Amino acid sequence: MEIRIEMPVQAEEIIEKLNRRGFEAYAVGGCVRDSLLGRTPEDWDITTSAMPWQVKEIFGRTIDTGIRHGTVTILRDGAGYEVTTYRIDGEYVDGRHPSSVAFTSNLTEDLRRRDFTMNAMAYSPKEGLVDVFGGLEDLRAGIIRCVGSASERFTEDALRILRAIRFAAQLDFVIEETTRQAISQVAPNLVHVSRERIQMELTKLLLSDHPERMVEVFESGAAEYLFPAFARIPWKRMAPGAGLPARKHLRWAMFLKDLQPEEAAAVLRELKMDRDTIVRASRLLTWLRRPAGLEEEEIRRTMSQMPDEAFDDLLLLKEALAADKQEGIPETEAQLARIRLEAEAIRRRGDCLRIADLAVTGKDLMEAGMKPGPQLGETLNRLLELVLHQPERNVKKELLEEAARIS
Ligand code: ATP
Ligand code: MG
Repeated sequence: MEIRIEMPVQAEEIIEKLNRRGFEAYAVGGCVRDSLLGRTPEDWDITTSAMPWQVKEIFGRTIDTGIRHGTVTILRDGAGYEVTTYRIDGEYVDGRHPSSVAFTSNLTEDLRRRDFTMNAMAYSPKEGLVDVFGGLEDLRAGIIRCVGSASERFTEDALRILRAIRFAAQLDFVIEETTRQAISQVAPNLVHVSRERIQMELTKLLLSDHPERMVEVFESGAAEYLFPAFARIPWKRMAPGAGLPARKHLRWAMFLKDLQPEEAAAVLRELKMDRDTIVRASRLLTWLRRPAGLEEEEIRRTMSQMPDEAFDDLLLLKEALAADKQEGIPETEAQLARIRLEAEAIRRRGDCLRIADLAVTGKDLMEAGMKPGPQLGETLNRLLELVLHQPERNVKKELLEEAARIS
C-alpha cells in the first residue's frame, strides 16, 4: 500500500522548487515519523542534494542558521523550514561534536547518520516514503532501535541515550534489546554531554504523557553519569505524574518532590534551567508539605502569600500527589476538593489578599495626615491582617478609621 503524508504546501513548494532545479529533496526525520504516527509535526525539515550555496541561490532570502553543518532556513508565511544538505558526520572526537561534516549526494548516507530507525525516513510527494532501515516496521511495532550498531551510535553521541528514553516516554514505545544494552554500556560517556542538552531531553521526557519513564534514566545506569546530585534523587518514590498539566515547573516539582526546595533548586541550576522555572518549582516545594489550611481564613492567608497562579499550581500538585496516594501531603483528596471550593469562593467574592487589594492606599493614608516612611508600610500590613481575618471590613472609610486608631 502506498503511503501518503499530508504536508504543508510551503514544504511541498520548497521540495518542488529544488526538484525543478535538478536536485533531490525530501521531508525528513521527526516530521515524517510524527506524520506516520498521526501526530502533527512541530516543524518540517527538508534534506536535499543541493549544496548550501545552491539552496541560497535558488531561494534568495534565506537565513544561515547552521551553515557550517549545511543548514539554511527558508521563511514561508511566518514559519521557518530548515533545508539541510545531505551529509555524513565525520568522527566524533569528544562524543559530542562531529569533527567534520562532509556533504554527500547520496540520500541513504544522510539517513544512515541519524539516530533511530524511526527518525531515519524521508518522504517526498513525488516519490513517497524512503525507508532504508526498517523505520516504518519499527514505528508500527512501537520499537526504538538505533540505525546500525547501537554501541557505536551511542559512542558517537551519548545524548542519543537520553533521546532514546525521551522518545520512549513521548511515544510509549519500548527500547529494543540491543539498543537497551548499549545504553547501559555507553552510559559513562554521558559525562561529556552538556548540561543544557541533558536538560532539554529530561524536560521533554517529563512533559510527555509518560513522565514516570524517568525511572529508565536511573534503571539503565545513565543517571549516575549526569551529576552526583541528580543520581541521589530518590527516584523509586517518584509519582506517576501524568495527571498533572504538562508544564515545566509542575512536572519538575513533581519529579523532585522528595528533595528540599534548596536541593531541588540546586539540581535545576546544574541543569542550566531558566530562572523562572527554578523559582516556581522550588516555591511549590516550599509549600507542598505545609498545610494549605482547611478553614476559610487559613486558606485566605495561604493565598495571600503567593501569586494567584502559584496557589493554583500548588493545588494541582497536591491534588496529583494525593490522588497517587503519595506520602507527605498534609491533606486528603477530599480536603483538597474542599480547599478548591473555598478558594474559588474567596476569589469570586474578591476578598482582599494583598496590600494592593486593600480599599486604602499609602497615598490615602498620607492624605489623611500620616507621615511617609516605614511606619506607613507597617500600618498597611496591619490593615491587611485585619481584612484577612474579616474580609467584609475592606471598606475605605472603615480602614481609614482603623489606621488612625492603630498608628
Ligand atoms: P523533536 O523535534 O520532537 O525533538 P526530532 O526527531 O524532530 O524530535 P530533532 O532534534 O528536531 O528531533 O532532529 C531532527 C532529526 O535529526 C531527527 O529526527 C534525527 O533524524 C536527526 N537527529 C537529531 N539529533 C540527532 C542526534 N543526536 N544524533 C543523530 N541524529 C539526530
Ligand atoms: Mg524536530
